[in-house]
Amino acid sequence: MSVSNEITISKSKTPIFGIAVLAFISAFGLFFVGYDQGHLFSIVQGAEAFDELYIHELTHDMRHAAGFPCH
Ligand SMILES: [Zn+2]
Repeated sequence: MSVSNEITISKSKTPIFGIAVLAFISAFGLFFVGYDQGHLFSIVQGAEAFDELYIHELTHDMRHAAGFPCH
């Protein structure tokens, strides 16, 4: 009769890299929805993006529902 002993060693650590990636995505999403006034599109579109406000108009209702100041 044989007895087998199984030992499980768990090496779970806090996934710092994953948390950093999620924090960046969260911060970018917060900026995208709540604060962008043409800044992102101005990188490729120039000063005209501050008049067009495409992202602002896209996220306008979401911005109001989330309680961000708008107008
Ligand atoms: Zn508004």
